[in-house]
Amino acid sequence: EKIAKMSAEVKDDNPYSRLMALQRMGIVKDYEKIREKTVAVVGIGGVGSVACEMLTRCGIGGLLMYDYDKVELANMNRLFFRPEHSGMTKTDAAVKTLMEINPDVNFESYHMNITTVDGYDKFVESITKDGDGKTSRVDLVLSCVDNYEARMTINQACLELEQNWMESGVSEDAVSGHIQVIEPGVTACFECVPPLVVASGIDEKTLKREGVCAASLPTTMGMVAGFLVQNTLKYLLNFGQVSPYLGYNAMKDYFPTMDIQPNPGCSNARCCKLQVKYEEKRKQRKLDKEKG
Ligand code: ATP
Ligand code: ZN
Repeated sequence: EKIAKMSAEVKDDNPYSRLMALQRMGIVKDYEKIREKTVAVVGIGGVGSVACEMLTRCGIGGLLMYDYDKVELANMNRLFFRPEHSGMTKTDAAVKTLMEINPDVNFESYHMNITTVDGYDKFVESITKDGDGKTSRVDLVLSCVDNYEARMTINQACLELEQNWMESGVSEDAVSGHIQVIEPGVTACFECVPPLVVASGIDEKTLKREGVCAASLPTTMGMVAGFLVQNTLKYLLNFGQVSPYLGYNAMKDYFPTMDIQPNPGCSNARCCKLQVKYEEKRKQRKLDKEKG
């Protein structure tokens, strides 16, 4: 009888039943909460496009996608995009494919550069309620860009909005990567510590340089996207342990994890202000606890 029931479940053609099984098996308390979550993904390249596909297949409620680039045949050594997409903007090509996979997701496509003055304003407007530039309407921002300037821009916007975000990166030699959770005032921000130069076996020299043709592997990018979205699911649905930092060194199959504390001397004034605010909150909580 049990087996009959199990095979009936397997035959169910609703993809959500497989996801709902996570709940039956006690991994996630309330999987359906995912329908209420909105994630913004900046950079729909080798890592971002795969992350968007994973979120779409997981049944995310809303997906905001940002990229200034178009699909090129040179992108075919990555996953997700197909030759027939070449010439389309990455965000439009992504919406087209992802809509077919899961029409229940609310997609928003932003073909723009987030680092220009106008782009920054539009980016902040788009992730805030009624475009007020103050209150975030997303649950998480994922950074899947490939340059320092864009990461600094996301860092600034998220500090302004006190919005938690996750940073990701793949080294220029394509054999290492990382993901990092950034909670304004609580963890290091992107300006607190020199980027990527943490004890992870990632060589500073492999950071993206202008005018140098970077290597890329669909394997490393796929793995980093997988780490990023796994951490996102745990964060959004409250299960398991969210990794504050997870590195991947493909040469040695070394996966370092660590906490990265905020730097009180961070060059970003907003970060320092939030560090003080969080420290005060922490002290207050401790006092309240002592009082019982
Ligand atoms: P390559 O440089 O090797 O050709 P790529 O540019 O596609 O690859 P990826 O690492 O695959 O790089 O993806 C990064 C993505 O982030 C790209 O699609 C890029 O267009 C996007 N991106 C980078 N900076 C910005 C920005 N300031 N605004 C919007 N999108 C950005
Ligand atoms: Zn900082």
